[in-house]
Formats: sequence, structure tokens, C-alpha cells
Amino acid sequence: MTKRDYYDVLGVSRNATKEDLKKAYRKLAMQYHPDRNPGDKEAEEKFKEAAEAYEVLSNDDKRAKYDRFGHDGLRAGGFSSGGFTDINDIFSHFSDIFGGGSIFDEFFGTSSSRSRSGRRRTTGTPGSDLRVVINLTLEEIATGTEKKIKLKRYVQCPDCNGTGADKGTSKKVCSVCKGSGEIRQVSRSIFGQFVNITPCSSCNGEGEVVDIACKKCQGEGRIQDESTVKIEVPAGVHNGSYMTLRNQGNAGKRGGENGDLVVVFKELEHQFFTREEDNIIYELYLSIPEAILGTELEVPTLTGKALVTIEPGTPSGKLLKMSNKGIKHLNQPGFGDQIIKVIVEIPKKISSKERELLKELAEQPNFKSRITEDKGFFKKFGL
Ligand SMILES: [Zn+2]
Ligand SMILES: [Zn+2]
Repeated sequence: MTKRDYYDVLGVSRNATKEDLKKAYRKLAMQYHPDRNPGDKEAEEKFKEAAEAYEVLSNDDKRAKYDRFGHDGLRAGGFSSGGFTDINDIFSHFSDIFGGGSIFDEFFGTSSSRSRSGRRRTTGTPGSDLRVVINLTLEEIATGTEKKIKLKRYVQCPDCNGTGADKGTSKKVCSVCKGSGEIRQVSRSIFGQFVNITPCSSCNGEGEVVDIACKKCQGEGRIQDESTVKIEVPAGVHNGSYMTLRNQGNAGKRGGENGDLVVVFKELEHQFFTREEDNIIYELYLSIPEAILGTELEVPTLTGKALVTIEPGTPSGKLLKMSNKGIKHLNQPGFGDQIIKVIVEIPKKISSKERELLKELAEQPNFKSRITEDKGFFKKFGL
């Protein structure tokens, strides 16, 4: 998997202030905090990803390197942007940054039980994330667009409001784990005593069970649904980049938090253009007379057509720039350019008349090869 852009990770623009960064990170850290997402590997990864992005962008030196050279710049500078492997590193790292105090005083405003062993039970079971791929033409990418997609997903059951309990009944405390949501098993070996804690299978770690199940959802608290979702695609997205819409994924079971909807962008191949960053390249084929005599031609653009003037004596490979006719920069003002790459076509087959004309032309002074003409060059080397 390619590494995500740090600004995208935090959901901030490239000119975000330190305060913006802090705010964005605080939000993500709260959302993906391990205490809030017990056992959720994906949340843990996002928590680490956000911490890494914040760690780099909140440091002026690292941010400057990253802005100039991207992820490679950080590696070259001797800084490993390999990320945090252990969550505890994040806690200790940022408590340094924030001056000794626990990150939680700063970010969570409580004297939060930072006890990662003593897990905090949440309602229900969280829903899974959904992933959709959206195909986009270069035209759509150039200006941004709105897409409607049909989505099959779990939504909260309207009959029981997600509790899973039948009307007039409520949940009761799980008799197996007595509401703690976990089972502790103590085992002894020659090395000592081990306590093994696993989620209670009888209530899925929820601590509560439904007494009489809701008829509509069979006690799940969610039902399958198909709906149309509008996706605002920002201008300038890249092939393979993605956007996460919080809580738009599958509803959780029995009131558990919704998953996210991950929208992946796929850039469709264009009939005329290839993309290089935010520039679009157009190959313009000219005949030999057109290249020599000059001409005026119509070329396609992302928004229609434009007239270009080919100066007399334009060589193959010449690049002509049409400023700001490219793709809008992502999260930044300004556009890329349209670059016209001139290719002078050499015919593979010619008629006998054309051959005669070319032979005649070849005798003319401006059509003689420079090397054959410049005999002096060869004479110098005794050739
Ligand atoms: Zn229900
Ligand atoms: Zn239980």
C-alpha cells in the first residue's frame, strides 16, 4: 500500500496552521482512541497514522522537508517515517511534546483511565467499513464533480432504534460475564500465573443481551438497506487516492458505532490526454509541410477546443504550453497546464511522384544534411 499524504490523513489543507493541525489531530485521536475502539485493528492503524502525520507536520523542520520532497524527503533526512509500531510510543512521544503532562489531559480533557488493560465497554458491536470505487474521467477530475452511488449497507433498525430488543422490552445484563463483557481465565504454569482476558462470547463482549429480539432485525439492531449516496469529489484527486466519509459505512450491531465509507478514486484513461501531476499532455501530429511552413490548428482541451498557432520551422518534440488549461490542484488554488507535444510524422510509404519531389528537394541548400555539408569537420580528423 502506498503511504497516504499526511495532509490528507489529518484532513487539513497544505497551509494549515499549527492550531489547525492540533485541532484535526485531536479529533482523530479521540475518534480512533484505543479505549474507544477496543480490539479494532483498523482504528488502531488510523490512530497510529494520524499520530505519525501530526508528528511530522507539527515539526517545522520535518514539515518543510515533507512539503518539498514528500515521504522520501523524510527518509533522506535520516528520519524514519516508518511510523509508530507501538501505541505506547505515541503516548510517551506526545506527552513529551506537550510538556510532561499526559496527552489525555490535553486531548481528552479528563483524567482518563489510560489503562489499556482495563478496557472500556462500549454499546453494541461496531459496524464494518465499506469501500467503493468511483470511476472518474479527466474532465471530472479537472473541476471536481458530484457522484451518486447506490449503496447496499446495514442501517439502524427503525423498529427498535438499534437496540435489538422487541418493543416494550429492554436488554438485560449478560449472565455469563455479569456485564463486564470479558472472561478472565487464570492459568498456572511453571513460569507463574497468567491471566488471560477474552471478550465474552455469549454477549460478544457487549455485557448485555437482548431478552426478546426485535422481529424486524432479529435482535441485530440493524437491517440491510439500499440507498443512494451523494459523493462530492474534490477537483484534482489522483488515481488510487481515497476519501473517508466518517460513519457512512455499515451500522453497528445493537447500537454499535457505524463504520466508515471509504471512497477510492479511479482515473479513467482519456482518449486524447495523459496526465502528469496536474498537467495534461496532448500529442499533436504534424505533417512535414505543416511543421516547416507553420499552421493554425484546433486542439481538444478539457473544456472544449482551442486554436493553436504553429510557428514556421517547428521541430518534432517541441512543447507548447497552454497555461492553466490543466487540472485544478487538490486543496490548493490554481491549475496545471495543457502541454502540447509536437510530433512530426514521417510517412512510411511514399508514391513515386513524392519520391521525385523529395529527391529534388534534397538538393536544395536548406534540405542538405548538416554533416555532409560540413566537410571541414571530417577533414579535421583526416577522414
Ligand atoms: Zn430491530
Ligand atoms: Zn457476556
